[in-house]
Amino acid sequence: MDLFNVYPINPINIVRAEGSTVWDSQGNEYLDLYGGHAVISIGHTHPHYVEALTSQLNRIGFYSNSVEIPIQKQFAQLLGEVSGKEAYTLFLCNSGAEANENALKLASFHNKRKKVIAFTKAFHGRTSLAVAATDNRNIVAPVNETDNVSFLPFNDEEALTRAFEEYGHLVSSVIIEGIQGVGGIREASVSFLRLIRRLCDQYGAVFIADSVQCGYGRTGNFFSHDYAGVDADIYTMAKGMGNGFPIGGIAISPTFQASFGMLGTTFGGNHLACAAGIAVLDVIKQENLLDNAKAVGEYLIQELNKFERVLEVRGRGLMIGIELPEELGSVKKDLLVKNRIFTGEAKPNVIRILPALNITKEIADRFLTALDERLKG
Ligand code: PMP
Repeated sequence: MDLFNVYPINPINIVRAEGSTVWDSQGNEYLDLYGGHAVISIGHTHPHYVEALTSQLNRIGFYSNSVEIPIQKQFAQLLGEVSGKEAYTLFLCNSGAEANENALKLASFHNKRKKVIAFTKAFHGRTSLAVAATDNRNIVAPVNETDNVSFLPFNDEEALTRAFEEYGHLVSSVIIEGIQGVGGIREASVSFLRLIRRLCDQYGAVFIADSVQCGYGRTGNFFSHDYAGVDADIYTMAKGMGNGFPIGGIAISPTFQASFGMLGTTFGGNHLACAAGIAVLDVIKQENLLDNAKAVGEYLIQELNKFERVLEVRGRGLMIGIELPEELGSVKKDLLVKNRIFTGEAKPNVIRILPALNITKEIADRFLTALDERLKG
């Protein structure tokens, strides 16, 4: 059988990893500042994580959700403590798309409405509703097309207010990334997030904060939307939650009245996933990774702002977009080939970095030096 996989763009076989360093099958060493698209939160093969997963697997890896799984409760309590959302309820699933799918459905079960407001350049996943709320027509199959989703211009308060005035009583939910990732690292403004909160309250709509990429401590706050001082009704998360183990989840506000009985999943919240999730949170807590993400992120952004050929530096904490002049399209490739540094991009001209939350200032400096040389060269 042949294998179809749309992603591989580099003919590199990574066979070993530690922290933010990875090695290919030839023994070449690379610096990983992309973390598999914000997935690696506590660094590759962190000893506490490896130990927790190994010992859990030796006891039990999976048993169906038809029995009590106390480790799920332990995971939920720790997540409440580390995120500061103690009063929320956690539902566990397996990916970011599944988290958003469930959040959008739950909102609709809750208020019995159909309309979803999403924003230009949003990315929410590739399943039915999540992809319908994603602003990329190329990945929406005819079967997923729906009139239920409206795309409004990101950060446009006037357009949002007008939309609610026109059809606010029909709106089930508003879904927004605190910082758009795939869309090129664009941060929602504080006043925009506050307006969403206000309008959702006024019209009975559900505020869904897609924190799949920008959440889980990446910005220095647990959820990036926290900096605006607003609470969402539902936070969706995945990626960094499992440090490579597929875990997704939705945290549901205590003010939310829906019953959760209509949500379900075979794999979500299995023993091994919970062990991985707890180990990640243990490390985030014990090693103060939120503070580290904030400090190293601020340092990187401050230094990048001094670069002459950089058009704009966007983001917060360790979610950074570096907009370059269009003709520098090969920078990402050059950093990989010449400096052996993995970065990401948002086409056509934004370098994206999403490193592990425990990168050091020394690692940040290695990246800054390499980028500086490339931009001057
Ligand atoms: N939401 C956001 C903001 C994302 O960046 C992504 C993945 N890029 C998703 C949802 C979908 O996550 P997954 O690939 O785990 O389904």
